[in-house]
Amino acid sequence: MKNYAKEIDGVSRKCSRDKREYRRCKNCGILFLTSSNRKQICEKCSTYQPINTKTIICIDYGKEIEVKAWDVNTKRCKDCQLIYRKEYKKIWYKNRVDRCFLNKND
Ligand SMILES: [Zn+2]
Ligand SMILES: [Zn+2]
Repeated sequence: MKNYAKEIDGVSRKCSRDKREYRRCKNCGILFLTSSNRKQICEKCSTYQPINTKTIICIDYGKEIEVKAWDVNTKRCKDCQLIYRKEYKKIWYKNRVDRCFLNKND
């Protein structure tokens, strides 16, 4: 039992010497351990390159999405894009059928 208590003591002392503290990442909001006061974003976000991305608003749902900075074609989030493609196919097919009908009437 005594050894066990010592072990606990050792661990807690080790912890109190540890200058690291939990900070909340300014970028993604997760808690991370750091000893630097200047560090405001987690390891993952600091290695991440935000320069090449931009945030746009999905034109269907208003949700913020991140796309490549040079991407000018993306206007929707993935979910809406899937729905859009399905609908687009339907409309495209319907228009084609309509045209066929018109041609027949001519
Ligand atoms: Zn982060
Ligand atoms: Zn969307």
